[in-house]
Amino acid sequence: EKEFYFQLLADYGITLNEPQQEAVRAVDGPVLIIAGAGSGKTTVLTAKIGYMIHTKNIDPSKILLVTFTKKASVEMIERLARIPGLNRSASRAVTAGTYHSIFLNILRQEGYNFRVLSSERKRHYIIKTILRKMNRQDDYAPETILSVISSWKNNMIRPIDVDVNSDIKTELRYVYEQYEKIKADENLYDFDDMLLEVYYLFMFEPSILNKYQSQFEYVLCDEFQDSSKVQYEIIQMLTSAKKNLCIVGDDDQTIYGFRSASASYMIDFDKAYPNCRKVIMDINYRSNPDIVGLGNSIINVNKKRIKKTLKVVKPLGQQVNFLQPNDNEEEARNIVKEIKTKQAAGASLKDISILYRTHTTGRAIFEHLLLADIPFITYGRSNESFYENSFVRPLIDLMRLSVNPMDADALISAAPILYISKTEAEATIDEISIDGFDSKDLLGKVLKRIADKKSGFAQKSILKKIDCINSLAKMTAPRAIREIRLGAINYERHLELDQRKTLTVHKEYTLEMLDECEQAARGFDSPKSFLGFIERVKEKNDEMETLRSQPDIEAVRLMTIHASKGLEFKTVFVIGATEGILPHAAALESSKREDTDQNDQSAIEEERRLAYVAVTRAKEELYISSPRMNRNNTVKISRFILESMNVEGVDSFV
Ligand code: ATP
Ligand code: MG
Repeated sequence: EKEFYFQLLADYGITLNEPQQEAVRAVDGPVLIIAGAGSGKTTVLTAKIGYMIHTKNIDPSKILLVTFTKKASVEMIERLARIPGLNRSASRAVTAGTYHSIFLNILRQEGYNFRVLSSERKRHYIIKTILRKMNRQDDYAPETILSVISSWKNNMIRPIDVDVNSDIKTELRYVYEQYEKIKADENLYDFDDMLLEVYYLFMFEPSILNKYQSQFEYVLCDEFQDSSKVQYEIIQMLTSAKKNLCIVGDDDQTIYGFRSASASYMIDFDKAYPNCRKVIMDINYRSNPDIVGLGNSIINVNKKRIKKTLKVVKPLGQQVNFLQPNDNEEEARNIVKEIKTKQAAGASLKDISILYRTHTTGRAIFEHLLLADIPFITYGRSNESFYENSFVRPLIDLMRLSVNPMDADALISAAPILYISKTEAEATIDEISIDGFDSKDLLGKVLKRIADKKSGFAQKSILKKIDCINSLAKMTAPRAIREIRLGAINYERHLELDQRKTLTVHKEYTLEMLDECEQAARGFDSPKSFLGFIERVKEKNDEMETLRSQPDIEAVRLMTIHASKGLEFKTVFVIGATEGILPHAAALESSKREDTDQNDQSAIEEERRLAYVAVTRAKEELYISSPRMNRNNTVKISRFILESMNVEGVDSFV
């Protein structure tokens, strides 16, 4: 009877190997599966659920299947629906989803009636409001604060638990406290709250914990290497009665370290569960031999890892393609051309994915696909176009103002860059509207009125800025951006002041974004024409939500490497494979800091894991592209590629 189910799977095209079968059969008790990319971890989880229901007659509603990203969970549910031995209603009866979606449901079921705070912009706004009240709005970047808070929460550190050993920590703790208070007052829960709330619920309401322990008799977790403390603790509580817990993961694919994920919960699993069954799988079924080989040699350089070398079963296929375009524009143009060729040859667009390290790196390819009219979808948490990013936005606002001095929204939004508070800008706009508009120049009037209230240098400086903004409209778009960055407005200096006192690594990211914006503006002969294009990009972005809800849509998949975890595509383009992007400059920066000897390696090692995740997404064709120039500088090919390819010099790298 046992064999019957494996036969079913084989008929369906998956002949499980010995360790895979062992993992599937191990239904009761704790099971730990550690295995490299593409070795069938997710396959085993779904096959196991099929086996549990079909062969072991386990009630599907007793099974909980947890995964990490939304996209991966959608994929998993799809796979589950196709697995043999399960009818539709059985596969639907399994509870499957991300930690957040599952915990949100539990909280709703228990009568929690909060609103979900999912908008990044709103979270920024809350932090900014707090900072403004502290009169520290120029001293911290909201992004940094939010990531520190999130990391505390994932480590279950409450405000009172924060170890205040420095002034910065004291202030951060205060912001954290206030952030929690504002949310509580408005009955808002952010994503981390959902985890914490379930934890406390289970902790303090044994009867409720009991209920879910008997509802979910079997718990299976994919991508366990990226668990945070709070996630781990909840899963432990949930399974503490029966201990039917199966976790799978790959320590080489821990890529959420910056969000307090740690592979240690997985690596130390056999300490917490001494009788656990351990399964190692080392055959890669996903990729052709050259891709597997590249993946192996990339990750092999990392020191802190469980050693494993993936074996290959697929026959020799295409070699890995290396591209060395001049810059990211040429990179994007070449890839668009390549995609068109593939499309003409009958390839399906949904088999093609383009992966990048940061959203900024994805900017050019987004726009070139848009211009070429090739359908594509982007994935990821943020639904904003590059130009709406809080650091890029002021540049755009000032250009808007130069084109339309009546744009009150742009004026208010750009006010801080002109060293005017938003409240003051708003109040002055109101005053002037009461007086009645008699000229088209809102910008000039508002700023002049504000300048009138000041004297000496402050006054002169505002008047100079009016002239500067007015002059932008006549410049080419990239020239206008230069002017905003370094001219009378000196946005760069503003950012520098903004960040000097912060503990931020975001400085690297912000400069990257500004340079990228300037790069994007090339080819536009005025701010006006550039703004028109940005409008198109925004519209395209607004469409994304709808496009994403059609999983089978014929469109190229664009995403960050982080978002690609667990997924696979016939063809993968990894773009921006250069020093400074992958590994990212921020990681290089932290590796230079002498006091953090340990940190240092861990930042680079995490980047190397990202490179590993990226290349191992490809099934048949892998393209790695390393532009020669980035942000007007000549850059080197990523060390992750060089050290694993025995590439002698740039010349042999075609
Ligand atoms: P990742 O680490 O990227 O999450 P994974 O270990 O979860 O990878 P899967 O996605 O489960 O790997 O499997 C990779 C590919 O190999 C899938 O296309 C799957 O169908 C295929 N596969 C897995 N096991 C087998 C098998 N025994 N026979 C044939 N194909 C297999
Ligand atoms: Mg997987």
